[in-house]
Amino acid sequence: MSCLTFYGGVNEIGGNKILLEDQDRKIFLDFGMSFSLTNKYFDEFMQPRKCNGIFDLIEFDLLPDLKGLYRCDYMRHCRCKPEEKPNFDAILLTHAHMDHSAYIHYIRDDIPIYCTQASKDIMQALDETSSTGTTELIWLRESFKMYINKKGEYSRLQGEKTKVERKYELIDEKTFGVGDTKIDALPVSHSLEGATAYILHTENGTVVYTGDFRFHGYKGNLTRKFIKKAADTESVALITEGTRVDSRDGLTENDVKEGVMERVERTKNLVVVNFPIRDTDRMISFYEVAKNTNRSLVINLKQAHLLHLFEKSGISTPRIDDEHIRIYVPRKGWGVFGDDRFPRRIQYQDYDKWEREFLEHPNIVTADEIKKEQESFIFRCDFFELKELIDIRPKDGSTYIRSVCEPFDIEMELDLEKVKNWLKHFGLFPYHQIHASGHLNRDELYYVIGEINPDNIYPIHTEHPKMFREIVNEIDRDINVNIVEKGIKYRIGN
Ligand SMILES: [Zn+2]
Ligand SMILES: [Zn+2]
Repeated sequence: MSCLTFYGGVNEIGGNKILLEDQDRKIFLDFGMSFSLTNKYFDEFMQPRKCNGIFDLIEFDLLPDLKGLYRCDYMRHCRCKPEEKPNFDAILLTHAHMDHSAYIHYIRDDIPIYCTQASKDIMQALDETSSTGTTELIWLRESFKMYINKKGEYSRLQGEKTKVERKYELIDEKTFGVGDTKIDALPVSHSLEGATAYILHTENGTVVYTGDFRFHGYKGNLTRKFIKKAADTESVALITEGTRVDSRDGLTENDVKEGVMERVERTKNLVVVNFPIRDTDRMISFYEVAKNTNRSLVINLKQAHLLHLFEKSGISTPRIDDEHIRIYVPRKGWGVFGDDRFPRRIQYQDYDKWEREFLEHPNIVTADEIKKEQESFIFRCDFFELKELIDIRPKDGSTYIRSVCEPFDIEMELDLEKVKNWLKHFGLFPYHQIHASGHLNRDELYYVIGEINPDNIYPIHTEHPKMFREIVNEIDRDINVNIVEKGIKYRIGN
């Protein structure tokens, strides 16, 4: 028997945690965090307690209550004897957005995680650069351990000695097996590098899982190849995202590039922009515009760190030594970087170890240089970096391009109000909104469903699953749309 159980992504955008059982094999498709559900109970300053392991999350159904899945250090600490062996065979990750990957933090280190090289690089970047150090996606840090110190007393074990590397399998464009379940990994376009869809050949038929995807990025041809392959297979189940099933907006990444180009050409002084930190398609759009307008795109240290990892893996994104890329070094701590009154050692102490590796890079730039040559830069500036505008002081004739999605909850609306206040203060208001989504729209979903023509659809990652019934009625095919309920087992195939 094969079946599907959905523990997240149900009537919500993100939080995908889908269990596929194929005979005796148990495979999780993504293991992400549900933002909407988490925000119902927690926020930035009111986080689940580490000392209670997984149980603050289980309390609110943010994690499924399953045995042999969660990390042993947390279980032991909460007086739950961990199973000797894991009860699950694999986590298949579609991409490294938090709503698909963040809760890997809670997974046992002996459950293998299958993903693309780019997804692994992104998670490594998160582990290495997160200020809280709580991601633990690539390395788990064993908690609540003690050792006997030199004085013969108990001490808490911390630092490098607690690091355990998780088991990763790289599956870029591969066909691989988890036990007897054969799986094809097919790359797709999304607003994050390394996104992949899966076609899983179970003993009761083929299951297609889209992850998050779109046609209109620079790698849209990959999505078309995936659809063709899925269409050539007879599938019993299509698990598809439906983020924008209610939208017909069809703006492409190329439209974004052209819109930005037009705006930048008309700007005399500084161009300030905000785009998602790890969306390298969007970074390419701004980079191309920078090149064509004889400016440099200024990225932050976290972006430089990620591009550096991509470069080492042979993934083609802009290089940090490109003449049109500059790496912004902000003032932090004492804020004395480049200040001759202080020895270099003191200057560098303001930065984390991973940041220090970039401080002598020939492409670094500081606020002083941008302030003097405003016509030479496109400065990426997210919410937390708005403070830099105090040092940079954009001149008259500067502009702000907002290239992120519209707010979809109260917190985001409040943040946008703050951004507007900053922009008004610095003469950058009104701003220009130029953005294309990471997801396909209703018409494209119609096309995908018609092409793949599965027996069953399980719409997830959407607030409007019932709209899929309307689409199927329009296509006029015998396709069953399952309005998924959380935690219910759906039998697939015969
Ligand atoms: Zn998602
Ligand atoms: Zn995504």
